[in-house]
Amino acid sequence: MDQLLRPLSNPQAADAGARGLLQPTPEDLSSLVGGWSGPRPLRVCSGGTSSRAAAAGQWTLDLRRTMGQVTWNPADQTVSIGGGCRMGEVLEQLYPLGRSVAGGLSGWPGVGYVLTGGMGPFSRELGLAVDQLQAVAGVWGNGEPFVLQRDRDQFTAEWRGLCGAAPFLAVVREVVLATQPLRPLWIRTSTGSPDQLPDQLIAAERSDPSTSLQWSWGGDGSLRLLQVSAHKHSGWQRIDGLHQLPPMTPPSPTSLRLHGEVVGLLGPANCEGWRRLLPDLQAQMQRCPHVGCSLSSQQLGNATAAVPIEATSFVHRDATWKPWITAVWSAGDLEGRRCSLQWLNELWSLLEPLCPGVHLAQLHDHLPFHQKELDLAFGPWLPGLRQLKARRDPDGTLPGL
Ligand SMILES: Cc1cc2nc3c(=O)[nH]c(=O)nc-3n(C[C@H](O)[C@H](O)[C@H](O)COP(=O)(O)OP(=O)(O)OC[C@H]3O[C@@H](n4cnc5c(N)ncnc54)[C@H](O)[C@@H]3O)c2cc1C
Repeated sequence: MDQLLRPLSNPQAADAGARGLLQPTPEDLSSLVGGWSGPRPLRVCSGGTSSRAAAAGQWTLDLRRTMGQVTWNPADQTVSIGGGCRMGEVLEQLYPLGRSVAGGLSGWPGVGYVLTGGMGPFSRELGLAVDQLQAVAGVWGNGEPFVLQRDRDQFTAEWRGLCGAAPFLAVVREVVLATQPLRPLWIRTSTGSPDQLPDQLIAAERSDPSTSLQWSWGGDGSLRLLQVSAHKHSGWQRIDGLHQLPPMTPPSPTSLRLHGEVVGLLGPANCEGWRRLLPDLQAQMQRCPHVGCSLSSQQLGNATAAVPIEATSFVHRDATWKPWITAVWSAGDLEGRRCSLQWLNELWSLLEPLCPGVHLAQLHDHLPFHQKELDLAFGPWLPGLRQLKARRDPDGTLPGL
Protein backbone atom coordinates (compact mmCIF):
# COMPACT_ATOMS: atom_id res chain seq x y z
CA MET A 1 0.00 0.00 0.00
CA ASP A 2 1.41 3.37 -0.86
CA GLN A 3 0.26 6.88 -0.26
CA LEU A 4 0.23 9.55 -2.91
CA LEU A 5 -1.90 12.54 -3.60
CA ARG A 6 -3.69 12.20 -6.90
CA PRO A 7 -6.39 14.79 -7.59
CA LEU A 8 -10.03 13.76 -7.15
CA SER A 9 -12.40 14.81 -9.88
CA ASN A 10 -14.77 16.57 -7.46
CA PRO A 11 -13.08 19.94 -6.78
CA GLN A 12 -14.53 20.22 -3.28
CA ALA A 13 -13.22 16.78 -2.32
CA ALA A 14 -9.87 17.61 -3.92
CA ASP A 15 -9.63 20.85 -1.90
CA ALA A 16 -10.96 19.34 1.34
CA GLY A 17 -7.68 19.11 3.23
CA ALA A 18 -7.82 15.34 3.64
CA ARG A 19 -5.03 13.58 5.53
CA GLY A 20 -4.27 11.58 2.39
CA LEU A 21 -5.26 8.88 -0.02
CA LEU A 22 -4.52 5.24 0.78
CA GLN A 23 -4.36 2.84 -2.15
CA PRO A 24 -4.86 -0.65 -0.72
CA THR A 25 -4.65 -3.78 -2.85
CA PRO A 26 -7.64 -6.13 -2.62
CA GLU A 27 -5.48 -8.34 -0.37
CA ASP A 28 -4.74 -5.43 2.02
CA LEU A 29 -8.34 -4.36 2.36
CA SER A 30 -9.47 -6.66 5.16
CA SER A 31 -6.58 -5.93 7.53
CA LEU A 32 -6.60 -2.21 6.74
CA VAL A 33 -10.32 -1.73 7.36
CA GLY A 34 -10.56 -4.26 10.21
CA GLY A 35 -7.53 -2.82 11.99
CA TRP A 36 -8.33 0.86 11.36
CA SER A 37 -7.40 3.05 14.32
CA GLY A 38 -7.21 6.42 12.56
CA PRO A 39 -9.93 9.08 12.43
CA ARG A 40 -13.39 7.81 11.54
CA PRO A 41 -15.13 7.58 9.23
CA LEU A 42 -12.84 6.30 6.53
CA ARG A 43 -13.81 7.78 3.18
CA VAL A 44 -13.93 5.68 0.01
CA CYS A 45 -13.27 6.90 -3.52
CA SER A 46 -14.18 5.11 -6.71
CA GLY A 47 -14.92 7.74 -9.36
CA GLY A 48 -14.18 10.52 -6.87
CA THR A 49 -17.05 12.60 -8.25
CA SER A 50 -18.91 13.27 -5.00
CA SER A 51 -18.11 16.03 -2.51
CA ARG A 52 -17.37 13.52 0.28
CA ALA A 53 -14.85 11.35 -1.58
CA ALA A 54 -12.44 13.12 0.80
CA ALA A 55 -12.96 15.21 3.92
CA ALA A 56 -10.89 17.49 6.13
CA GLY A 57 -8.70 15.57 8.57
CA GLN A 58 -9.82 12.15 7.31
CA TRP A 59 -8.26 9.41 5.19
CA THR A 60 -9.68 8.18 1.91
CA LEU A 61 -9.38 4.64 0.54
CA ASP A 62 -8.74 5.44 -3.10
CA LEU A 63 -9.62 2.33 -5.11
CA ARG A 64 -8.99 3.87 -8.55
CA ARG A 65 -5.51 2.47 -9.16
CA THR A 66 -5.63 -0.91 -7.42
CA MET A 67 -9.21 -1.94 -8.19
CA GLY A 68 -9.70 -0.64 -11.70
CA GLN A 69 -10.09 -3.88 -13.64
CA VAL A 70 -13.03 -4.69 -15.95
CA THR A 71 -13.48 -8.39 -16.88
CA TRP A 72 -15.99 -9.74 -19.38
CA ASN A 73 -17.46 -13.12 -18.37
CA PRO A 74 -18.66 -14.75 -21.61
CA ALA A 75 -20.16 -17.81 -19.88
CA ASP A 76 -22.97 -15.86 -18.24
CA GLN A 77 -22.61 -12.57 -20.16
CA THR A 78 -21.85 -10.57 -17.04
CA VAL A 79 -19.09 -8.06 -16.39
CA SER A 80 -16.92 -7.93 -13.26
CA ILE A 81 -16.08 -4.36 -12.33
CA GLY A 82 -13.37 -3.41 -9.84
CA GLY A 83 -14.48 -1.17 -6.96
CA GLY A 84 -12.44 1.74 -8.35
CA CYS A 85 -13.69 1.79 -11.97
CA ARG A 86 -15.42 4.65 -13.73
CA MET A 87 -18.65 3.65 -15.49
CA GLY A 88 -17.35 5.19 -18.72
CA GLU A 89 -14.43 2.73 -18.68
CA VAL A 90 -16.88 -0.15 -18.33
CA LEU A 91 -18.96 1.04 -21.30
CA GLU A 92 -15.85 1.61 -23.41
CA GLN A 93 -14.44 -1.84 -22.67
CA LEU A 94 -17.75 -3.55 -23.44
CA TYR A 95 -18.29 -1.60 -26.67
CA PRO A 96 -15.98 -3.72 -28.91
CA LEU A 97 -17.63 -6.85 -27.46
CA GLY A 98 -21.06 -5.63 -28.55
CA ARG A 99 -22.35 -5.37 -24.97
CA SER A 100 -23.49 -2.58 -22.65
CA VAL A 101 -24.64 -2.01 -19.06
CA ALA A 102 -27.33 0.10 -17.41
CA GLY A 103 -25.13 3.19 -17.20
CA GLY A 104 -26.12 6.72 -16.25
CA LEU A 105 -25.93 10.09 -17.91
CA SER A 106 -22.17 10.41 -17.55
CA GLY A 107 -19.16 8.13 -17.74
CA TRP A 108 -17.38 9.99 -14.92
CA PRO A 109 -19.00 8.40 -11.84
CA GLY A 110 -17.40 5.26 -10.49
CA VAL A 111 -18.82 2.21 -8.73
CA GLY A 112 -20.53 4.60 -6.30
CA TYR A 113 -23.04 4.99 -9.18
CA VAL A 114 -23.99 1.32 -8.92
CA LEU A 115 -23.87 1.08 -5.13
CA THR A 116 -26.19 4.06 -4.56
CA GLY A 117 -28.89 2.82 -6.96
CA GLY A 118 -27.79 3.84 -10.44
CA MET A 119 -30.36 5.55 -12.67
CA GLY A 120 -29.89 5.99 -16.37
CA PRO A 121 -31.68 6.72 -19.63
CA PHE A 122 -32.79 3.06 -19.80
CA SER A 123 -33.99 2.64 -16.22
CA ARG A 124 -37.60 2.48 -17.44
CA GLU A 125 -36.70 -0.52 -19.55
CA LEU A 126 -33.97 -2.26 -17.52
CA GLY A 127 -34.44 -1.08 -13.93
CA LEU A 128 -31.75 0.47 -11.75
CA ALA A 129 -28.10 -0.54 -11.75
CA VAL A 130 -28.65 -2.29 -8.38
CA ASP A 131 -31.33 -4.38 -10.09
CA GLN A 132 -28.61 -5.65 -12.49
CA LEU A 133 -26.22 -6.70 -9.70
CA GLN A 134 -25.35 -10.40 -9.80
CA ALA A 135 -22.63 -10.44 -7.13
CA VAL A 136 -20.83 -8.09 -4.75
CA ALA A 137 -17.48 -8.74 -3.04
CA GLY A 138 -15.59 -6.67 -0.49
CA VAL A 139 -15.08 -6.23 3.23
CA TRP A 140 -17.61 -5.10 5.82
CA GLY A 141 -16.79 -2.11 8.00
CA ASN A 142 -15.48 -4.56 10.64
CA GLY A 143 -12.95 -5.90 8.13
CA GLU A 144 -14.64 -9.25 7.50
CA PRO A 145 -14.45 -10.25 3.82
CA PHE A 146 -17.60 -11.27 1.97
CA VAL A 147 -18.78 -12.46 -1.45
CA LEU A 148 -22.56 -12.28 -1.90
CA GLN A 149 -24.40 -13.63 -4.93
CA ARG A 150 -27.89 -12.74 -6.08
CA ASP A 151 -28.87 -16.40 -6.67
CA ARG A 152 -27.94 -17.40 -3.14
CA ASP A 153 -28.22 -14.27 -1.00
CA GLN A 154 -30.90 -12.01 -2.49
CA PHE A 155 -33.32 -12.45 0.41
CA THR A 156 -30.77 -11.53 3.09
CA ALA A 157 -30.57 -8.15 4.85
CA GLU A 158 -26.92 -7.99 3.74
CA TRP A 159 -27.79 -8.20 0.04
CA ARG A 160 -30.57 -5.65 0.46
CA GLY A 161 -28.23 -3.31 2.33
CA LEU A 162 -25.51 -3.48 -0.31
CA CYS A 163 -28.06 -2.68 -3.06
CA GLY A 164 -28.36 1.05 -2.42
CA ALA A 165 -26.74 1.63 0.98
CA ALA A 166 -23.31 0.00 0.58
CA PRO A 167 -21.29 3.17 1.40
CA PHE A 168 -22.49 2.88 5.05
CA LEU A 169 -21.70 -0.80 5.40
CA ALA A 170 -18.78 -2.02 3.33
CA VAL A 171 -15.84 -1.30 1.06
CA VAL A 172 -16.71 -3.03 -2.19
CA ARG A 173 -13.77 -4.39 -4.18
CA GLU A 174 -15.81 -5.82 -7.06
CA VAL A 175 -19.35 -5.93 -8.42
CA VAL A 176 -20.71 -8.23 -11.13
CA LEU A 177 -23.37 -6.69 -13.37
CA ALA A 178 -25.67 -8.19 -16.00
CA THR A 179 -24.96 -6.84 -19.50
CA GLN A 180 -27.23 -6.20 -22.47
CA PRO A 181 -26.57 -6.36 -26.20
CA LEU A 182 -25.20 -3.07 -27.49
CA ARG A 183 -27.70 -1.27 -29.74
CA PRO A 184 -27.71 2.04 -31.52
CA LEU A 185 -29.52 4.84 -29.69
CA TRP A 186 -31.37 7.90 -30.90
CA ILE A 187 -31.11 11.16 -29.00
CA ARG A 188 -32.65 14.61 -29.27
CA THR A 189 -31.30 17.64 -27.43
CA SER A 190 -33.42 20.77 -27.36
CA THR A 191 -33.99 23.91 -25.36
CA GLY A 192 -37.21 25.49 -24.25
CA SER A 193 -38.93 27.55 -21.65
CA PRO A 194 -39.67 26.16 -18.16
CA ASP A 195 -43.37 26.94 -18.91
CA GLN A 196 -43.34 23.86 -21.15
CA LEU A 197 -42.17 21.56 -18.39
CA PRO A 198 -45.55 20.12 -17.25
CA ASP A 199 -46.51 19.24 -20.84
CA GLN A 200 -43.09 17.71 -21.42
CA LEU A 201 -43.56 15.57 -18.31
CA ILE A 202 -46.99 14.35 -19.50
CA ALA A 203 -45.62 13.42 -22.94
CA ALA A 204 -42.65 11.62 -21.39
CA GLU A 205 -44.81 9.63 -18.97
CA ARG A 206 -46.97 8.47 -21.91
CA SER A 207 -43.97 7.52 -24.04
CA ASP A 208 -42.69 4.02 -24.70
CA PRO A 209 -40.51 2.72 -21.80
CA SER A 210 -37.50 2.42 -24.12
CA THR A 211 -37.53 6.25 -24.31
CA SER A 212 -36.66 8.66 -21.52
CA LEU A 213 -36.61 12.38 -20.87
CA GLN A 214 -33.98 14.14 -18.82
CA TRP A 215 -34.13 17.87 -18.33
CA SER A 216 -32.12 20.63 -16.71
CA TRP A 217 -33.38 24.07 -15.67
CA GLY A 218 -30.33 26.27 -15.39
CA GLY A 219 -29.58 29.25 -13.21
CA ASP A 220 -29.74 31.32 -16.43
CA GLY A 221 -33.46 30.43 -16.78
CA SER A 222 -33.01 28.05 -19.72
CA LEU A 223 -34.56 24.59 -19.93
CA ARG A 224 -32.47 21.93 -21.65
CA LEU A 225 -34.01 18.64 -22.66
CA LEU A 226 -32.32 15.38 -23.58
CA GLN A 227 -34.47 12.57 -24.93
CA VAL A 228 -32.95 9.15 -25.42
CA SER A 229 -34.57 6.24 -27.22
CA ALA A 230 -33.70 2.72 -28.31
CA HIS A 231 -35.94 3.24 -31.35
CA LYS A 232 -35.31 5.31 -34.44
CA HIS A 233 -37.09 8.68 -34.49
CA SER A 234 -36.89 10.88 -37.55
CA GLY A 235 -34.78 13.97 -36.97
CA TRP A 236 -33.07 12.48 -33.91
CA GLN A 237 -29.32 11.88 -33.85
CA ARG A 238 -28.01 8.31 -33.91
CA ILE A 239 -25.22 7.35 -31.48
CA ASP A 240 -23.51 3.99 -31.00
CA GLY A 241 -24.27 3.57 -27.31
CA LEU A 242 -24.41 5.25 -23.90
CA HIS A 243 -20.67 5.92 -24.03
CA GLN A 244 -21.40 8.55 -26.72
CA LEU A 245 -24.14 10.38 -24.78
CA PRO A 246 -23.46 14.14 -24.84
CA PRO A 247 -23.41 16.06 -21.54
CA MET A 248 -26.87 17.38 -20.70
CA THR A 249 -25.55 20.78 -19.70
CA PRO A 250 -22.61 22.75 -21.07
CA PRO A 251 -19.59 23.32 -18.82
CA SER A 252 -19.99 26.13 -16.30
CA PRO A 253 -19.63 29.54 -17.95
CA THR A 254 -17.26 30.75 -15.24
CA SER A 255 -13.58 29.90 -15.20
CA LEU A 256 -13.55 30.05 -11.38
CA ARG A 257 -13.16 26.84 -9.42
CA LEU A 258 -16.59 25.82 -8.13
CA HIS A 259 -17.60 23.86 -5.08
CA GLY A 260 -21.09 22.50 -4.61
CA GLU A 261 -23.54 20.00 -3.23
CA VAL A 262 -26.19 17.92 -4.96
CA VAL A 263 -29.39 16.62 -3.39
CA GLY A 264 -31.41 13.99 -5.28
CA LEU A 265 -35.19 13.78 -4.77
CA LEU A 266 -37.75 11.19 -5.85
CA GLY A 267 -41.43 11.59 -6.63
CA PRO A 268 -44.30 9.88 -8.44
CA ALA A 269 -46.00 11.08 -11.61
CA ASN A 270 -47.87 14.32 -10.82
CA CYS A 271 -47.88 16.68 -13.81
CA GLU A 272 -50.70 18.79 -12.45
CA GLY A 273 -48.78 19.23 -9.21
CA TRP A 274 -45.78 20.46 -11.23
CA ARG A 275 -48.08 22.82 -13.17
CA ARG A 276 -49.45 24.32 -9.97
CA LEU A 277 -45.97 24.67 -8.50
CA LEU A 278 -44.45 26.26 -11.60
CA PRO A 279 -44.84 29.95 -10.56
CA ASP A 280 -43.17 29.27 -7.20
CA LEU A 281 -40.42 27.26 -8.89
CA GLN A 282 -39.83 30.07 -11.39
CA ALA A 283 -39.54 32.60 -8.58
CA GLN A 284 -37.10 30.37 -6.69
CA MET A 285 -35.00 29.68 -9.79
CA GLN A 286 -34.79 33.45 -10.40
CA ARG A 287 -33.39 33.82 -6.88
CA CYS A 288 -30.60 31.29 -7.42
CA PRO A 289 -27.39 32.83 -6.14
CA HIS A 290 -25.03 31.45 -8.81
CA VAL A 291 -25.54 30.85 -12.52
CA GLY A 292 -24.11 27.33 -12.08
CA CYS A 293 -27.01 26.32 -9.79
CA SER A 294 -29.67 24.16 -11.42
CA LEU A 295 -32.66 21.89 -11.06
CA SER A 296 -32.48 18.80 -13.27
CA SER A 297 -34.32 15.51 -13.52
CA GLN A 298 -34.16 11.94 -14.77
CA GLN A 299 -37.13 9.76 -15.62
CA LEU A 300 -37.91 6.48 -13.85
CA GLY A 301 -40.92 4.15 -13.77
CA ASN A 302 -41.95 0.95 -15.54
CA ALA A 303 -39.07 -1.50 -14.85
CA THR A 304 -37.91 0.43 -11.76
CA ALA A 305 -41.45 0.04 -10.31
CA ALA A 306 -41.57 -3.69 -11.04
CA VAL A 307 -39.03 -4.63 -8.34
CA PRO A 308 -40.43 -5.29 -4.83
CA ILE A 309 -39.66 -2.57 -2.26
CA GLU A 310 -38.08 -5.15 0.07
CA ALA A 311 -35.58 -6.36 -2.55
CA THR A 312 -33.15 -3.42 -2.27
CA SER A 313 -32.44 -0.32 -0.18
CA PHE A 314 -34.02 1.78 -2.94
CA VAL A 315 -37.51 1.88 -1.41
CA HIS A 316 -39.10 4.54 -3.64
CA ARG A 317 -40.26 2.15 -6.30
CA ASP A 318 -43.22 4.41 -7.09
CA ALA A 319 -40.92 7.21 -8.25
CA THR A 320 -41.31 8.46 -11.80
CA TRP A 321 -39.01 11.47 -11.56
CA LYS A 322 -35.69 11.99 -9.86
CA PRO A 323 -35.10 15.73 -9.72
CA TRP A 324 -31.76 16.80 -8.35
CA ILE A 325 -30.79 20.21 -7.07
CA THR A 326 -27.24 21.42 -7.71
CA ALA A 327 -26.06 24.29 -5.52
CA VAL A 328 -22.66 25.78 -6.34
CA TRP A 329 -20.43 28.62 -5.20
CA SER A 330 -16.92 29.83 -5.90
CA ALA A 331 -14.33 27.84 -3.96
CA GLY A 332 -13.54 29.57 -0.67
CA ASP A 333 -16.56 31.93 -0.81
CA LEU A 334 -18.18 31.14 2.54
CA GLU A 335 -21.01 33.64 2.10
CA GLY A 336 -21.66 32.25 -1.39
CA ARG A 337 -21.78 28.75 0.14
CA ARG A 338 -24.28 29.85 2.80
CA CYS A 339 -26.55 31.53 0.21
CA SER A 340 -26.36 28.60 -2.18
CA LEU A 341 -27.18 26.00 0.50
CA GLN A 342 -30.05 28.16 1.74
CA TRP A 343 -31.39 28.37 -1.82
CA LEU A 344 -31.07 24.56 -2.12
CA ASN A 345 -33.04 24.11 1.11
CA GLU A 346 -35.78 26.47 -0.03
CA LEU A 347 -36.09 24.76 -3.41
CA TRP A 348 -36.16 21.34 -1.71
CA SER A 349 -38.99 22.56 0.60
CA LEU A 350 -40.98 23.69 -2.43
CA LEU A 351 -40.49 20.35 -4.17
CA GLU A 352 -40.99 18.14 -1.14
CA PRO A 353 -44.80 17.74 -1.50
CA LEU A 354 -44.25 16.49 -5.07
CA CYS A 355 -41.05 14.58 -4.41
CA PRO A 356 -41.14 13.24 -0.86
CA GLY A 357 -38.30 10.74 -1.33
CA VAL A 358 -34.52 11.16 -1.47
CA HIS A 359 -32.01 9.42 -3.73
CA LEU A 360 -28.93 9.26 -1.52
CA ALA A 361 -26.30 9.27 -4.26
CA GLN A 362 -24.05 11.73 -2.42
CA LEU A 363 -23.24 11.67 1.29
CA HIS A 364 -23.89 14.86 3.27
CA ASP A 365 -22.77 13.81 6.74
CA HIS A 366 -21.22 17.27 7.15
CA LEU A 367 -24.51 19.11 6.55
CA PRO A 368 -27.48 19.69 8.90
CA PHE A 369 -29.91 17.81 6.64
CA HIS A 370 -28.03 14.47 6.69
CA GLN A 371 -30.52 12.82 9.09
CA LYS A 372 -33.46 14.12 7.09
CA GLU A 373 -31.90 12.64 3.95
CA LEU A 374 -31.44 9.25 5.64
CA ASP A 375 -35.09 9.23 6.78
CA LEU A 376 -36.39 10.23 3.37
CA ALA A 377 -34.05 7.88 1.48
CA PHE A 378 -34.65 4.66 3.40
CA GLY A 379 -38.01 5.26 5.16
CA PRO A 380 -39.26 2.18 7.04
CA TRP A 381 -36.09 0.24 6.08
CA LEU A 382 -33.81 2.61 8.05
CA PRO A 383 -34.12 0.70 11.39
CA GLY A 384 -33.22 -2.54 9.57
CA LEU A 385 -30.24 -0.85 7.96
CA ARG A 386 -29.12 0.43 11.37
CA GLN A 387 -29.28 -3.11 12.79
CA LEU A 388 -27.20 -4.31 9.85
CA LYS A 389 -24.72 -1.51 10.42
CA ALA A 390 -24.45 -2.46 14.12
CA ARG A 391 -23.55 -6.04 13.07
CA ARG A 392 -21.27 -5.29 10.14
CA ASP A 393 -19.65 -1.96 11.09
CA PRO A 394 -20.06 -1.73 14.88
CA ASP A 395 -17.22 0.79 15.34
CA GLY A 396 -18.49 3.20 12.68
CA THR A 397 -15.39 2.85 10.54
CA LEU A 398 -17.51 3.84 7.53
CA PRO A 399 -19.89 6.86 7.34
CA GLY A 400 -22.70 6.91 9.91
CA LEU A 401 -26.37 6.09 9.39
C1 LIG B 1 -21.35 14.11 -13.89
C2 LIG B 1 -22.24 13.21 -13.02
C3 LIG B 1 -23.28 12.53 -13.60
C4 LIG B 1 -24.09 11.70 -12.82
N1 LIG B 1 -25.11 11.01 -13.41
C5 LIG B 1 -25.85 10.15 -12.69
C6 LIG B 1 -26.86 9.36 -13.31
O1 LIG B 1 -27.13 9.46 -14.50
N2 LIG B 1 -27.55 8.49 -12.52
C7 LIG B 1 -27.30 8.36 -11.18
O2 LIG B 1 -27.96 7.53 -10.54
N3 LIG B 1 -26.36 9.09 -10.57
C8 LIG B 1 -25.63 9.97 -11.30
N4 LIG B 1 -24.65 10.71 -10.68
C9 LIG B 1 -24.46 10.56 -9.23
C10 LIG B 1 -23.38 9.52 -8.96
O3 LIG B 1 -23.70 8.28 -9.52
C11 LIG B 1 -23.22 9.36 -7.45
O4 LIG B 1 -22.88 10.56 -6.85
C12 LIG B 1 -22.17 8.31 -7.10
O5 LIG B 1 -22.19 8.08 -5.70
C13 LIG B 1 -20.79 8.73 -7.54
O6 LIG B 1 -19.96 7.63 -7.45
P1 LIG B 1 -18.37 7.80 -7.55
O7 LIG B 1 -17.80 6.44 -7.42
O8 LIG B 1 -17.99 8.59 -8.73
O9 LIG B 1 -18.11 8.78 -6.35
P2 LIG B 1 -17.18 8.72 -5.07
O10 LIG B 1 -17.15 10.14 -4.64
O11 LIG B 1 -15.90 8.04 -5.36
O12 LIG B 1 -18.04 7.86 -4.08
C14 LIG B 1 -19.37 8.22 -3.79
C15 LIG B 1 -19.86 7.46 -2.59
O13 LIG B 1 -19.89 6.09 -2.85
C16 LIG B 1 -19.06 5.40 -1.94
N5 LIG B 1 -18.28 4.42 -2.69
C17 LIG B 1 -17.72 4.58 -3.88
N6 LIG B 1 -17.09 3.46 -4.23
C18 LIG B 1 -17.27 2.58 -3.24
C19 LIG B 1 -16.84 1.25 -3.02
N7 LIG B 1 -16.12 0.61 -3.93
N8 LIG B 1 -17.19 0.65 -1.86
C20 LIG B 1 -17.94 1.31 -0.94
N9 LIG B 1 -18.37 2.57 -1.09
C21 LIG B 1 -18.03 3.20 -2.23
C22 LIG B 1 -18.14 6.43 -1.32
O14 LIG B 1 -17.85 6.10 0.02
C23 LIG B 1 -18.97 7.67 -1.39
O15 LIG B 1 -19.75 7.81 -0.28
C24 LIG B 1 -23.84 11.56 -11.43
C25 LIG B 1 -22.79 12.28 -10.85
C26 LIG B 1 -21.99 13.10 -11.64
C27 LIG B 1 -20.86 13.84 -10.99
